[in-house]
Amino acid sequence: MEKVIRAGIYIRVSTEEQAKHGYSIESQKSRLKAWAKEHNYIIVNVYADEGKSARTKLSNRKELLRLLKDVEEDKIDRIIIWRLDRWFRNVADYYRVQDILDKHKVDWECSDEEYNTTTSNGRLYLNIKLSIAQNESDQTSDRIKFNFDNMVKNKRPISGAMPVGYKIVGEGRDKRVVKDPDLEQFALDMFDKYEETMSFRKVTEYLNLNYPQRPIGFERVKRHLKNTMYYGCYRDVEDYCEPYISKERWQKINDLIAKNKRKYTRTDYVFIFSGLIKCYKCGRRMSGSMVHSRRVRTEDVKTPTYKCAKHYYDTQCPNNHTITERLLEEWLKDNFLKQLNEYVVKIEDVQNEDESQDISKVIHKLEVRKERLNELYLDNRISREKYETEYQTIVSDLEKYNEKATDDQQRDLSKYHKLLNNKNVLELYDKLNNENKKAFWYEYIDCIKQDDDKKYIIFFK
Ligand SMILES: [Zn+2]
Repeated sequence: MEKVIRAGIYIRVSTEEQAKHGYSIESQKSRLKAWAKEHNYIIVNVYADEGKSARTKLSNRKELLRLLKDVEEDKIDRIIIWRLDRWFRNVADYYRVQDILDKHKVDWECSDEEYNTTTSNGRLYLNIKLSIAQNESDQTSDRIKFNFDNMVKNKRPISGAMPVGYKIVGEGRDKRVVKDPDLEQFALDMFDKYEETMSFRKVTEYLNLNYPQRPIGFERVKRHLKNTMYYGCYRDVEDYCEPYISKERWQKINDLIAKNKRKYTRTDYVFIFSGLIKCYKCGRRMSGSMVHSRRVRTEDVKTPTYKCAKHYYDTQCPNNHTITERLLEEWLKDNFLKQLNEYVVKIEDVQNEDESQDISKVIHKLEVRKERLNELYLDNRISREKYETEYQTIVSDLEKYNEKATDDQQRDLSKYHKLLNNKNVLELYDKLNNENKKAFWYEYIDCIKQDDDKKYIIFFK
């Protein structure tokens, strides 16, 4: 006979979600009760944290703590939740709770999302997903957003950065957004030219030619044309500032932009390596863009590539080389695990007792040499010049070895071991969407650089 599973239902709704989306405790509860019934679970208890965001500290989520207490008293076999973001948005808290669950052999599942934490593949997925969620919630906390909404309602600016054609006047609470008379024509021309040419590039060229005092890049022009402030609306507040064009005209232009975009690019493409590749000439992180592939010269085939913005937008960097996303991805799939393995072995060598004893021996020898050098100099047996150069060498060697001794010895490699032990990591990787692929690389790689022969070098985290 199958063992009956005793389930605990966990529910969480934040104040903002209740207000904005009408999510309620009740709707989650009935959804989860139905789920439990479908799966023949016995519901032990329902735990509901109301008015709490997932960012709230663990200790303030009272119902979650009560649930954990029941877990520790072995009253529950499985926890069911609606979606992962009900559970945690913070990787550290998640692992703290997961530890308790693991100890008591309790697992959990989502009614509306699929995760399987019983396999290492499942946990890898989950780790990636949580890293993304954490990143998102770090960017906007509910309270900051609430404050911003209020400021906007009162027509106050929430940042100092204004689109061209607007400026901020007044002080403190009296700050207002008004038209900038010096750049009114600039703003009007921008929309006129787009209607005329339907090309961001041509608009950018026109503006830079006619307003050399106000240089502007391609990406900013694109963002400006989509900015609702030009018809007076900001964050859904319609009469936020004085408009340049009517809402109807703005909408017409943005429909044109959307139509063009569908024609030329894949919509909202997520660049897997954006911010991860460093330009080998200037060190700036390279940005992704869609370019026409050289071989297929048709209008609608574009390839994701990376280039140094310092070269392309203000020509301060000589690196005109572009990197094709697909080729880099293939290279990484062929080389990543091998290089990671070499990296791990190298660090473990250092962590290995003998090796670190070697390092401390070297450090000791350098210390002795430094002492002796001081004596030699004090006894006038070497010149000041010789002393200086010798001393510098010893000191920088010492720094290097000391750093090596502490850094490498303390590095936690468990994350890498998990990855290296997972035989089908590449197979799994292929199933990820671009957003998750990106999170995957960010998890392990600090940056990728090229050497002078354009060969890639991976720097691990
Ligand atoms: Zn560069």
